[in-house]
Amino acid sequence: MNICDVAPSYIRAIAPYQPGKPISELAREFGLQEANIIKLASNENPLGVSPKAQAAIRAVLDGLALYPDGNGFELKQALSRHLKVGMDQLVLGNGSNDVLELAARAFLQPANSAVYAQHAFAVYPLVVQAIGCKGIEVPAKNFGHDLDAMAKAVQDDTRIVFVANPNNPTGTWIAPDAMERFIAALPAQVLVVLDEAYNEYLRPELRADSISWLKKYPNLLLTRTFSKVYGLAGLRVGYAVGSSGVADLLNRVRQPFNVNSMSLAAAAAALDDHAFVRKSYELNVAGMAQMTAGFKQLRLDYIPSYGNFVTFKVGDAQAVNLALLKAGVIVRPIAGYGLPQWLRVTIGTAAENTRFLASLKSAVGSTAGS
Ligand SMILES: *Cc1c(COP(=O)(O)O)cnc(C)c1O
Repeated sequence: MNICDVAPSYIRAIAPYQPGKPISELAREFGLQEANIIKLASNENPLGVSPKAQAAIRAVLDGLALYPDGNGFELKQALSRHLKVGMDQLVLGNGSNDVLELAARAFLQPANSAVYAQHAFAVYPLVVQAIGCKGIEVPAKNFGHDLDAMAKAVQDDTRIVFVANPNNPTGTWIAPDAMERFIAALPAQVLVVLDEAYNEYLRPELRADSISWLKKYPNLLLTRTFSKVYGLAGLRVGYAVGSSGVADLLNRVRQPFNVNSMSLAAAAAALDDHAFVRKSYELNVAGMAQMTAGFKQLRLDYIPSYGNFVTFKVGDAQAVNLALLKAGVIVRPIAGYGLPQWLRVTIGTAAENTRFLASLKSAVGSTAGS
């Protein structure tokens, strides 16, 4: 007998998450210099780590022999001021992926179902399947969430609906009024997990006042991250905001020290580095214009994006991806998201975008008709 055979069948059936290829791995595989490789594969911040966060990280080095503050008091206090919510409404996570999983663990059991959209973030089906509960994938509409169909898909046993706004990998966005109508219409026993990982990349006038919705909808949970505009993807820190009752449940199932000392300190500092956030936002606006102009010039279809990345159509995505890798450019194949003819690229610095577009031009030229 094989010990693996006794694991639940729903665990054995999980398809492993396919992350963006690390720079070191590409260097090894293709014999390239790491310094000559650019990674535009995981929607990371091309400006790196904010100076304030770097200083905060250096300041905690001497204290690393001690366990972190398991309640994350200082970061929660900073978030509480920033968002104008109670500290008891917050849940910190080892990345927002962690809080997505905590929501699933706290609210789902195998007899339940959870609803999410086709082409939505891959972590939703993963955390649902890890519980052994049923995932209901609702077909996308114009690559985005079809909220009417999602509301109709909710069953008596549904306990969570996941919505990403903006969505990754399609970059689609749902207007605040449509989103609030959707939340208001859902049954009270369904937790709405609204994933706002790219919130800070939205133009200010497009951002929903989703924090204010929490007062009206105790079944709403917002998740956000320090991995994107705040530039801390490698440290793994994100959070959820909800009603105090929901936050309390998630806090009970999390590991006592799920966020490490460096992450806690860096996140609090990054939250305060308004100049860095503004610079990152502005770089993205300019880079998005550069990228989309490039796609138009190459006559490639792309999905207009509200995030820090764009998904574009190349046909033979495997071949184009391989040609890009050989040129030292890492983007993200998204066949696993049901988009086998498309690739996703993160907006980089102007120089990185230029290099990517030049490599893409050669790649689609050399693979055309193949
Ligand atoms: C990048 C991303 C996150 C953030 O994940 P972390 O675990 O916080 O790094 C969450 N949701 C979506 C849709 C994302 O694209």
